[in-house]
Amino acid sequence: MSTRNYRLLPAITLLLVAAVVALFSLYVLDKSKGNPINGQVAGNTTVSDQQYRWRMVTSWPKNLPGLGAAAENFARFVKEASGGRLVIQVYGADEIVPALGVFDAVSSGSVEMGHTSAYYWKGKIPAAQFFTSVPFGMNAQEMNGWLHYGGGMALWRELYEPFNLIPFAGGNTGVQMAGWFNREINSVRDLKGLRMRIPGMGGEVFSRAGGTAVNVPGGEIYTAMQTGVIDATEWVGPYNDVAFGLHEVARYYYYPGWQEPGPSLELIVNKSVYESLPEDLQHIVALAARAVNQDMLDEYTSRNNRALQQLQADESVDIRRLPDDVLVKLRESAEAIYQETAAKNPDFARVYRAYTDYMQQAREYHAVSEEAYYQTRALDEKTKE
Ligand code: CA
Repeated sequence: MSTRNYRLLPAITLLLVAAVVALFSLYVLDKSKGNPINGQVAGNTTVSDQQYRWRMVTSWPKNLPGLGAAAENFARFVKEASGGRLVIQVYGADEIVPALGVFDAVSSGSVEMGHTSAYYWKGKIPAAQFFTSVPFGMNAQEMNGWLHYGGGMALWRELYEPFNLIPFAGGNTGVQMAGWFNREINSVRDLKGLRMRIPGMGGEVFSRAGGTAVNVPGGEIYTAMQTGVIDATEWVGPYNDVAFGLHEVARYYYYPGWQEPGPSLELIVNKSVYESLPEDLQHIVALAARAVNQDMLDEYTSRNNRALQQLQADESVDIRRLPDDVLVKLRESAEAIYQETAAKNPDFARVYRAYTDYMQQAREYHAVSEEAYYQTRALDEKTKE
């Protein structure tokens, strides 16, 4: 052998080893399952290099911080985990489907999937509201426990089955803020005649308690507040509210977000389309949903903290807690509406029962865990005073 050939020896050896390993793998795969050439591997999972392209419509403006980012993250998780075999193109509201047309578009199969909120569909399915958030309902941690380990997901799947849809939890903002008010709220009397942008069941409750609920799309809230068309608005929490500039158009920022204590977003997939995917890609979709559901909560936890600090330092903003009598009145109004809706709609009654049963259990445990722990922080504050 010449010197030149000796220098090539390591590379040749490596190639030979690689070839032996590859041949051995083919032999093992062949023994364990079948012919690897046509895509069969161990475990009854079919892997082919066929690429699937889906469209995901959303109820948010394209690239909206938080909500829109969650949709993009889901698509990225799926693409990365599938090695590019399932590629999902994300569309903002109104790009191909209106914000509130997402459910119908996915149900009919005109698009494969959507990212939205279940409470938008209360006209079709009143019980769907429980799968986003209801006033004085569960927080994010409790919702995730109910959905994934407490029977909630099975009920949700059952409600969506007639619409040929499979739902997944797809993000959570955590407890929201009660919202921005251009006047002080010192008692229930101050709700009278107050025009507030507050959607869904929160709006029904607010009206029942004496206020006037108004529907204003997210993108128009700033102007509606600025021009006095509305006196108050809720949106999400510090992170999203500061991004909308709501601190520039109202002085009083009230908490807590009784109206949406732990709203879940939803990823909905056309059932026939989902079932036609190879099994491994179905798992990737389901796991990416679980990942983005937690990821969004993590992002909000971090970003809300920072945005709140900014608001605390802003002298034109007054951050306050809603008075107890206002919260009690809102809570009573909510209870009355649940009872009335349950009396009219058996599905609502059934889900309401399951939801409140779970919440009661979670509440008992959280009284001696989360809540008790938060109280120890308050003790710490007291000793500093
Ligand atoms: Ca909200």
